Amino acid sequence: MERILLSQEQLDEIVADLAGEIAADFAGAAPLQLLGLLKGCQPFLADLSRALSRYSLPLAVDYLKARSYVGTASSGRVEITALTAVADLALGDVVVIDDIFDTGLTLKQVVSHLKEQGAGRVKTCVLLRKEGCSRVAIEPDYVGAVIPNEFVVGYGLDYNEQYRELPFIKVLE
Ligand code: 5GP
Ligand code: MG
Repeated sequence: MERILLSQEQLDEIVADLAGEIAADFAGAAPLQLLGLLKGCQPFLADLSRALSRYSLPLAVDYLKARSYVGTASSGRVEITALTAVADLALGDVVVIDDIFDTGLTLKQVVSHLKEQGAGRVKTCVLLRKEGCSRVAIEPDYVGAVIPNEFVVGYGLDYNEQYRELPFIKVLE
């Protein structure tokens, strides 16, 4: 039997709440740059940016590519494999968007990279956070939901490139 952790309806609610939090924090600020970590952020970032459009906050969307997982285990190393033009980031605020937070290594690496490039305020937003992850490298600023420490797929999250298309989050059996 399939173990669905978060249904499409629950995801909609989580994303709407995150948009509310982010909009409240960045109201009246300069254009906000949403910087998604490919590939897992895609459905989340698409839905989040649409949810943010309700708040008439000027937005820009861009992407970085980062990879730390091979199969179902963290490799312990984060590769930033492609960088977008970061020249504009120094002028504005950045919210880095990732699908799931486990050890925090990915986000930590990306945040230091952006700071090195001269970015201003850098916040981090994850859809999911795994329960009981000790020794985390960084705390995310916005967390959609906390889930048990299991390997999940769907809504952008993959297992060797499969299952990203699912509109819900399930445990990989
Ligand atoms: P961290 O660097 O925080 O340990 O790992 C974060 C990255 O690992 C996420 O962006 C995601 O790509 C991957 N990851 C961590 N846990 C899971 C999981 O349960 N399922 C999937 N599909 N990817 C995961
Ligand atoms: Mg990822």
